[in-house]
Amino acid sequence: MTSDSCYNCNKKINEHTEEQKSECLAEVSDTASFLKSMLVSKKPEVESELSDNEVLDGFNDIKTGEAGRMSER
Ligand SMILES: [Zn+2]
Repeated sequence: MTSDSCYNCNKKINEHTEEQKSECLAEVSDTASFLKSMLVSKKPEVESELSDNEVLDGFNDIKTGEAGRMSER
């Protein structure tokens, strides 16, 4: 298994210095967020409809939460 090898430089994670580790982590997360943004931009508008509903749900949650807190006082 190569589970303890670095995704960035393929060295063992154990053989990294702290500096190397954070450098490689930054590199990997850069790549990950880049890939993510590519995926998101490729997705159709269905996704934004979904997130709209989710936003509304979250808003209702906040509202009811605040109402509950208000009535507690
Ligand atoms: Zn590395």
